Amino acid sequence: MIVQMSEFIKNLKTPIAIVGMGKSGEAARRLLLHCGVPSQSVLTFDVKLDSVDFNDPALLLSKGQPQTLVVSPGVPLSSSWIQDAQSAGLKITSELSLACSCLTTERLIGVTGSVGKSTTVSLLGAGLEAFTTAFFVGGNLGTPFAEYAIDVLSGARPRADWVVLELSSYQLENCENLSLDFSAITYFTSNHLERYESLEHYYRTKWNILSLTKKMMLLNSEGGDLVEYFKNNHHEQIKVISKKDPTLESYQLEKALLIGQHNQDNLALASSLALAAGWPAASIDGMKSFKGLVHRLENVGTFKNIRFINDSKATAMDSVLIAATAAYDTLEGSGKLFLLLGGRDKNLPWQDLGPLKKFRNIEFVFFGECRNIAQQKSTLPGSSFSHLDEALNHAFQRANPQDTVLLSPGGTSLDEFKSFEERGNFFKRKVEDFAKS
Ligand code: ADP
Repeated sequence: MIVQMSEFIKNLKTPIAIVGMGKSGEAARRLLLHCGVPSQSVLTFDVKLDSVDFNDPALLLSKGQPQTLVVSPGVPLSSSWIQDAQSAGLKITSELSLACSCLTTERLIGVTGSVGKSTTVSLLGAGLEAFTTAFFVGGNLGTPFAEYAIDVLSGARPRADWVVLELSSYQLENCENLSLDFSAITYFTSNHLERYESLEHYYRTKWNILSLTKKMMLLNSEGGDLVEYFKNNHHEQIKVISKKDPTLESYQLEKALLIGQHNQDNLALASSLALAAGWPAASIDGMKSFKGLVHRLENVGTFKNIRFINDSKATAMDSVLIAATAAYDTLEGSGKLFLLLGGRDKNLPWQDLGPLKKFRNIEFVFFGECRNIAQQKSTLPGSSFSHLDEALNHAFQRANPQDTVLLSPGGTSLDEFKSFEERGNFFKRKVEDFAKS
């Protein structure tokens, strides 16, 4: 089969060096090869890997003589050697731009923000899944966009009607071919200042998504510094979205499986995008049935009328407070919350959990290596077990209909498990056994 190379890829001067051979760099390399760029014209560069052509930028430039650099998001464009290469006339592009150059009829939605990107993008994915199979969700989250392009060009999948991309600020610095029908910014807060001169510079990079948007950009009204930023950067294409928006009322977003006020904001943003894009109402039902990202406030299900939530990823006190509040706020009737806290300490400020004392229907269950220190520092009452297994047995025995059992441990998993994923999966298996018992 002869693959049509995009004009953009065809016109790239070779050799082409892929700078940063992570997931997206590897996908970019495969896309170039797939488009017929000869393998000897594609060089690989990574400072951390052995299995590449070059580890040293000076050698790459002098020996490899690349004419084009495909720079991965993990590599700062401000690196002096990349700046020098650009000044010397080398073309700088990205995996995202290569992939975008292969698009034809797809309509695109891009989502960026300091937090809330993955959740909003996944909600949009759940919305699409409810009414079509012709979609792709990826980018910074999950599958690199170049993988989509390869699959379409090779006939392994049909072109998508809708593409939803999670876009990091690094990707937005280097995305010449990206053109979005709709976009959204979830939240602005201080982040990645190691890569930006200032907070303003970081926000400006994200705000750049507006200039790539053809129809409408939506902002979360509860998005931290976002609304203040908007006040100084008004634009007719922008719409600010609130979960209290009367147009959303009839969709009863509060009945969503995903818990937490911040997720209601994400859901309001995703639903408003769906309405703006003309998706059917079923898409919003699909979003309401989304159970959450794995191990992050993940709604495992309600069994014997008891709700189980897996937030194994929570290893900071802020995350525990958000999870506990979200679960507590959504208790039904006289329901009680069982909060499992523990794991391995990393000198955490457990005292920050003190405010949870004011919750009346809450029972704390401490477990693992740091159970004593966590309990002493937080001064929270509750029972204590050396292993998560015993702590769960205790919670399962005591829980009654309308109660919620929440694993939002605070400590890392490394006292008993290899990773937070393994700990979360253990929790889910135990819940499954309980449901069958
Ligand atoms: P990202 O993909 O941008 O890192 P996620 O969707 O994975 O963001 O969410 C990461 C964390 O950020 C969540 O666990 C939650 O604590 C917080 N968060 C998510 N959405 C919001 C929001 N809309 N407002 C405030 N905090 C949020």
